[in-house]
Amino acid sequence: MTPSTTTKTPSASDAAAPSASDPIRTKVLIVGSGFSGLGMAVQLRRRGYSDFIVLEKAQSVGGTWRDNTYPGCACDVPSLMYSYSFETRGSWSKVWSSQPEIEEYLKEISDKRGVTQKIHFGQKLVSGHWSESESRWHLQTESGREYIAQYVVSGVGALHIPNYPAIEGIEDFAGQAFHSAEWDHSVDIEGKRVAVIGTGASAIQFVPFVQKDAGTLTLFQRTPAWVLPRKNFTVPAAVRTVLSKISMSRRLARWSVYWGAESLAFGLNGHSNLMRPIEKVAKWNIARSISDPELRKKLTPSYRIGCKRILGSNDYYPALAAPNTKVVTDAIDKVTADSVVTSDGVAHPVDVIIYATGFHVTDGFDQLALKGSRGEDLPSHWHQTGINTHLGITTEGFPNLFFLLGPNTGLGHNSVVFMIEQQIKYILKAIDAVESRGAQSVDVRPAVQERFNTEIQDKLANGVWTNGGCTSWYLDSHGVNRTVWPGFTWQYWRATKDFESSDYEIV
Ligand code: NAP
Repeated sequence: MTPSTTTKTPSASDAAAPSASDPIRTKVLIVGSGFSGLGMAVQLRRRGYSDFIVLEKAQSVGGTWRDNTYPGCACDVPSLMYSYSFETRGSWSKVWSSQPEIEEYLKEISDKRGVTQKIHFGQKLVSGHWSESESRWHLQTESGREYIAQYVVSGVGALHIPNYPAIEGIEDFAGQAFHSAEWDHSVDIEGKRVAVIGTGASAIQFVPFVQKDAGTLTLFQRTPAWVLPRKNFTVPAAVRTVLSKISMSRRLARWSVYWGAESLAFGLNGHSNLMRPIEKVAKWNIARSISDPELRKKLTPSYRIGCKRILGSNDYYPALAAPNTKVVTDAIDKVTADSVVTSDGVAHPVDVIIYATGFHVTDGFDQLALKGSRGEDLPSHWHQTGINTHLGITTEGFPNLFFLLGPNTGLGHNSVVFMIEQQIKYILKAIDAVESRGAQSVDVRPAVQERFNTEIQDKLANGVWTNGGCTSWYLDSHGVNRTVWPGFTWQYWRATKDFESSDYEIV
């Protein structure tokens, strides 16, 4: 079928911006132009749909790979796999590519695949409601534009709303302060007294750079991370040539990265003893870099590896062992005009504070103020019921609304781009199912959603994220894991490969 011919409303998707008062009509509205939104747009085009719009809050594409520009920002999944299967690339300069190269990759695809002209930049979705009588979503952006769409695909991602910690006095700090995801490149840290708060995936990448330039670095650690040895290296030109010219070699390389990563899922999902040898390697990584026993103790986690995201770096521990670095593990009590004060009453004077304190993840959905078919908005609904979906893609009572990288489809062991691609295929099948029946909308049946959630929560009960002895951003405020897919990613592929129309009410 050629779905573009089924469009019922005039399209404004390719047109110049209409006046602010005219609602802009489109068949599919995609929110966000990161890996998720761009992938969706490309595949809609390939499937023959042309009536779609991408809303992007910023002025360029890339999502998290546009926003995070901190020094050392790089992917922690090898790029050969952390890329689209329909746009593999042999020219990645490093095994784990850096942020500028990934952002460039996304920009190139957006231009080459004709998506850029479909993007309405500077349009942040703020609210919307489903009109039952029209079978359409009415959506508003911060700038006051209204969009009317039959289908909405959220590609907003999980890691885009910086989490500033609720520490008393942070607004009183008179020095310079910023979040790792909003790196202020105008701040010169050369010779300054710098505080870094947080020791997650972002911090371990930029701390070595900060330590080199700063006069002193005070790292405030609440929980140590498990850090495996990792040496990133430049891919030799000859290897890049082979990978670029011979598609089979790229496929083989992706295949080996994929299955290597998949093997970790055994240990994460119920066989956590299998993680012990990996813990040994991580302990060796501490021992080889840190000679001070007190510091070693501070940096050795007490929870099972995998409970929080497993990190990799050869530079992080040496930076912490450097003479200008101090690792502080006392809780932060408050921030004053010139210091970070810890619970032991010690004031640590600093000029710059860098918050590496992560993102609003499960509570990030609070910003999606969409009212479904019962008039209830999504955040309030999920506050009452918990964040429940079918396959992380659809949620009952919110017809024609689809999530990419939605609840319980994040990963601790493999490339999320793989998950996104399975979701895109599923959404296209859902749209096809509606269109081919001459129907208007699709809504998941409550019993199907409940069955899915019971199944994954049962599986998660055995997972390292629940039993590993830590708390993490994978859990919501009730301690329920709403973030991670429990199992192998091929199981997710199997679960999503067919769109079971009997699971849905198609109206
Ligand atoms: P994160 O993993 O959530 O780490 C936040 C850090 O801040 C943790 O160490 C946390 O301590 C600490 N923290 C939070 N609130 C605090 C408070 N009030 N006082 C003291 N410490 C506080 O955030 P992230 O490092 O930005 O990484 C988030 C995710 O982004 C990663 O897990 C990963 O999925 C992704 N990421 C990927 C890459 C990559 O591909 N290379 C790079 C960066 C990020 P606790 O541990 O005690 O909570």
